Amino acid sequence: MASRLAATLLVVLSASGAVPDFQLQKIGSGIWAAIVNDDGLAGGNAGFVIGDDGVAVIDTFQDPRPAKALLGEIRKLTPLPIRFVINTHYHLDHVNGNDVFAAAGATIVAQRNVRAWMRTENIKMLDPPMTPEKKARVQSLTLPAVDFDSHIELYLGSRRINVRYYPGHTGSDSVVSVPDAHVVFCGDMLWKEHVPNLIDSSTKAWVDSLDAMQKDYGPSTWVPGHGGVANAQDVLTFRKYLADLRAEVRREQAAGESGDALVQALLPGLKSNYGKWGFFSDYAAADIEQTAQELLGTKRLPPNPER
Ligand SMILES: [Zn+2]
Repeated sequence: MASRLAATLLVVLSASGAVPDFQLQKIGSGIWAAIVNDDGLAGGNAGFVIGDDGVAVIDTFQDPRPAKALLGEIRKLTPLPIRFVINTHYHLDHVNGNDVFAAAGATIVAQRNVRAWMRTENIKMLDPPMTPEKKARVQSLTLPAVDFDSHIELYLGSRRINVRYYPGHTGSDSVVSVPDAHVVFCGDMLWKEHVPNLIDSSTKAWVDSLDAMQKDYGPSTWVPGHGGVANAQDVLTFRKYLADLRAEVRREQAAGESGDALVQALLPGLKSNYGKWGFFSDYAAADIEQTAQELLGTKRLPPNPER
């Protein structure tokens, strides 16, 4: 691990001029993670893989400006064509630069629910105030041109990239692995030291998926959707957040608590354990409420598309 860190190259970038939007971190031969600054424009982490005859990009940020900056950084490293973009799920903070890479020639690939939900379910992800411009942007997002149900293999010459669906975070999530380098891009199936957004989540399925991912990928370098580059212990820590949340909500429900009283009963404990994590004030109370809905069977999930 020490030698890997020593080989790490950090590049600080800013499209907004105010805050660096992301940092590039080399995590394998020809493999880079783009770790965002939470206060910048980029939103969710991205990354890219350079193969023999092309490049695959994983996620495209929540704004086209840092997406253009990322394309510029790739161009400094290789003249090879951008063959693929893989969207790890449909949420706006991972897909709003798709047009930048499609214009550069990339084929966008994702699990089929990404295509079904990108232009509709993302309306609820917009920060207030809602404007006609923001809504129109979501309704014209560049959709995947190739979709799949459970998994797909992509090839950059001899370099194989495996993309596999896991339920839990939204019902549209994929994990992107590069087997020759033991690198796994998890999208928002993994959050490091950040409280997750559970708006579309099924935490029961998510805990099971995290167990499956550990079995499927073993010792790897894990890139989360939010937070810095992670390891196997970080996967366990995140799993514990979800499992403990479920257990505590279930306990309060068994004691007859519901609604805001249930949220207020659990929030201080959550804060003492996870108050230092990013997004605590954004998502912690909602996580309690949404998990309560899930356990009661009243939670609204994005509708499964007909096909
Ligand atoms: Zn995200």
